[in-house]
Amino acid sequence: MAKLVRGFRDIFEPQSQHFTELENCARGVFSLYGFGELRLPTVELKELFVKSTGETTDIVQKEMYAFEDAGHRQLAIRPEGTPGVVRAYLENNFVQAAPVQKFYYIGNMFRAERPQAGRYREFEQIGAEYIGNSAPAADAEVILMLKDIVSRFGAKNYCVKINSLGCDKCRPLYRQALIDFLSQEKDTLCENCQTRLEKNPLRVLDCKIDGARFAGRVPTMQLCPECQAHFDEVQALLKGKIDFVVDPMLVRGLDYYSRTVFEFQAGDASQNAIAAGGRYDTLVKNMGGPATPAIGWAMGAERVIAARGEVTRPQQKSVCVVSLDKQCNETAFNIMQSLRGAGIRTEGGLFDKNIKGQMKQADRCHAAYAVILGTDELAQRQATFKDLATGEQKKISFDVLTQEVKKVL
Ligand code: ATP
Ligand code: MG
Repeated sequence: MAKLVRGFRDIFEPQSQHFTELENCARGVFSLYGFGELRLPTVELKELFVKSTGETTDIVQKEMYAFEDAGHRQLAIRPEGTPGVVRAYLENNFVQAAPVQKFYYIGNMFRAERPQAGRYREFEQIGAEYIGNSAPAADAEVILMLKDIVSRFGAKNYCVKINSLGCDKCRPLYRQALIDFLSQEKDTLCENCQTRLEKNPLRVLDCKIDGARFAGRVPTMQLCPECQAHFDEVQALLKGKIDFVVDPMLVRGLDYYSRTVFEFQAGDASQNAIAAGGRYDTLVKNMGGPATPAIGWAMGAERVIAARGEVTRPQQKSVCVVSLDKQCNETAFNIMQSLRGAGIRTEGGLFDKNIKGQMKQADRCHAAYAVILGTDELAQRQATFKDLATGEQKKISFDVLTQEVKKVL
């Protein structure tokens, strides 16, 4: 039998409905904030991610689905959205025409990670990118927009952490201080972190194995006056509008972040981040454009849905149309279509089965009523209308059937 690939999933109802709800909720909030949808391609040149996400990141080193196509192009199935957004921004010359842009995207991302709860090889991200605004107001705006989506959707018990990673002026000093501190403990670091130590020491703090034990002990970042003023203002703008904590251990796993970074977390498993983002003021330039500030985030749809937990809501009641005889099938089918035409949820059409089989189907799809058609009904142009909860039934003329069914639903 055909088999699903490990780490990938089929998502059926009602789970699939949660995704639609989250997407609709996000679209509503995006429109309030003036963000427009950008539909990105799933495949990009591999080089795009290597250069922007970063050569030393887990995503590029271990998790990317990369392949060569028949035209010998080195391609990758996107592991994240930001590099594609910036490529599209540059390639379509927004720089000249309208440098300030607010984009959102909704789409599946692909990473060859070890599958576990909350960690899949194909997962959905909803993301936002605010390009061209260096003001702390932009940082506060995207963070509050994310909060609006998450809380409107109904996710509970999450906390918001923010930090500043400084800029090219102040980060090198911190980097060195971290290297000095971590070198003393080099022997106790995991294999991965021993390599990270020189190349990208900030990432050690983000390590799922080693990170937590350094909390409260690592040297803290000394921001330059500009970065400090920026960070202070972001916090002032957020105050009273969202509960947050400043966490000096929050460093994020991607290369392109500067200044403000943030994470929304739920629960305490290692896959606890429901959404994350930050400023990336150097990325546009690194990708060949002019110096352009930007900030964005991405949320993991599966994790936001899990953070909301079970929800039950009343379903629209439905009707099931049953035909008792071959002669009645066409009329029964036409009734199904006119009920649907009137906005009534309608099941039925299993006309090759006997009455027992068709009623069983009505039960299975939780129909509230059955419309039953036999040869008598056909002759009298009246259908039997049965309340499946009480068993009560009455005859209704074909002419007024749709109207009458509408009344009780
Ligand atoms: P993590 O620390 O959990 O590996 P990350 O730092 O790799 O997350 P980002 O690249 O910032 O995550 O992606 C943003 C969000 O996408 C995450 O906060 C998370 O909610 C979600 N996400 C990331 N990887 C996965 C995955 N493999 N499966 C499901 N959701 C994911
Ligand atoms: Mg990851």
